[in-house]
Amino acid sequence: MATEQQPYRKPLPELHPEIAPYYTGGLRAELMIKFCPNCNISFHYPRTVCPECLKSDTVWRRASGKGTVYSYTITYQNLSPGFREEVPYVLALVDLAEGVRVMTNIIDCDPKDVSVGMPVEVTWERAEELAIPKFRPQKS
Ligand SMILES: [Zn+2]
Repeated sequence: MATEQQPYRKPLPELHPEIAPYYTGGLRAELMIKFCPNCNISFHYPRTVCPECLKSDTVWRRASGKGTVYSYTITYQNLSPGFREEVPYVLALVDLAEGVRVMTNIIDCDPKDVSVGMPVEVTWERAEELAIPKFRPQKS
């Protein structure tokens, strides 16, 4: 029996070129993060200009997809469509191995099992033409 595809109900980012690879890299299973070759640093949120040297010859690089939970909160109540069906859920700040911090959700585990310093790895939530980076406990 075929299941009917439900429309995505949460707000989605507007896909402009400055941020698009962050939200579409997951379609190829690649977490994409901005990098400045002049400073030899990764940075996030995605933007054209390097926050250190202010040069605009920055590039996208594939990140390892591995990180650790820096901080998190568990949401038990959210009445907004698309969110209320998912409570309780974990909103987290994850430090990537590349030295940047991303705001995300920790999924594929009981929220009570999340802890600061927990090793996590990227996974993606498909949303229309996007693949939103989320994180789950590292396997092995
Ligand atoms: Zn730079």
